[in-house]
Amino acid sequence: MGVLDGQTGHPYGLHRVLAPERVLPQPAWKLDAESDLYDNELLIAVERLNIDSASFMQMREECRDDVNKIKQCILEIVAERGKMQNPVTGSGGMLIGTVEKTGPRYPHRHVRPGMKIATLVSLTLTPLKLEQINRVHLETGQVDVKGKAVLFASGPFAILPDDLPEAVALAALDVAGAPAQTARLIRGRERIVVMGAGGKSGLLSLCQAWKKAGTNGQVIALESRAEACAEIRQLGLAHQVLEVDATDPLAVYEAVSGATAGEMADLTLNCVNVPGTELPSILATRDGGTIYFFSMAVRFTTAALGAEGIGKDVQMMIGNGYAPGHAKLTLQTLRECPPLLELFRKRYGSC
Ligand code: NAP
Repeated sequence: MGVLDGQTGHPYGLHRVLAPERVLPQPAWKLDAESDLYDNELLIAVERLNIDSASFMQMREECRDDVNKIKQCILEIVAERGKMQNPVTGSGGMLIGTVEKTGPRYPHRHVRPGMKIATLVSLTLTPLKLEQINRVHLETGQVDVKGKAVLFASGPFAILPDDLPEAVALAALDVAGAPAQTARLIRGRERIVVMGAGGKSGLLSLCQAWKKAGTNGQVIALESRAEACAEIRQLGLAHQVLEVDATDPLAVYEAVSGATAGEMADLTLNCVNVPGTELPSILATRDGGTIYFFSMAVRFTTAALGAEGIGKDVQMMIGNGYAPGHAKLTLQTLRECPPLLELFRKRYGSC
């Protein structure tokens, strides 16, 4: 891919939207991943994708865990759309790779070819072309690929640290918004419930919750799988670990009510990767409390109409994946909690 002489792209990437017209790259159906580099863009030789967990779960189910079918599914989506955006879940993920080229007007002058970076923008708005998929890691949602991606002038990224395995950094950075928002939301809130607490975003959020509210507050982890619950208990980052199906509204209500003596949560963090958790989250939260819906499987209408339907006055936040300094905070969260880092190494670092 060459550099287009004197052609500056729109900082938000509008110049690469092929269809429909006049929309930004994220909601666009198709992006141009073929054109040469505009002079304010960055070209990445892509090595690995971290497919968003809700999207990966949907593909696993649809392909019945057949890795060849999952490969085919990813290749088809990227070929058709010029980006990795699962048409069912609408979500993407992020990537790591090596900087191949920067346009002469790319604003971040400290970035040099050869640097290893992770994009901190979603794959749903990242122009991507895949040559091949080498391996699908079924247990982690990471995918080894050979391809090229373009980062717009406005796109945040992180230079990969030397002290963590790349796959660990990728897994953590994919969900960097969750611990960063948790750290901000926790102020003045005592009873915190983390749903889907055993996954990437759940564990990192739990760690932040424990750091900020572990002494004076009550931190409750909710997970459906016994082994995941045992892992959380071993980490010692929660006062209670509830083994409950987060899609079961009554079970969640009863478990949280029991754990909080009927007070319910001041703050509920939803980090589950399957649909159907809106009402359980609402029921787990007290009137006047806050729910942070980080999960991509959450539906706005179900949450809004569900809260209205049961007359629950809760503040509901869409899980913005961005917060200033989120990448640094996330990696620091791992470094400051050796048992959590060990668990991430075990789960994500060996693939
Ligand atoms: P993850 O690592 O796969 O963790 C999901 C967790 O939810 C797992 O521990 C899983 O347990 C648990 N879970 C699944 N079904 C459950 C149930 N019925 N009851 C209780 N727990 C259940 O996922 P992640 O990467 O942390 O992502 C979590 C969510 O955030 C996903 O929906 C993802 O798409 C979304 N996300 C959002 C953003 C954003 O910017 N807002 C960015 C990245 C990801 P098992 O292991 O037992 O299945």
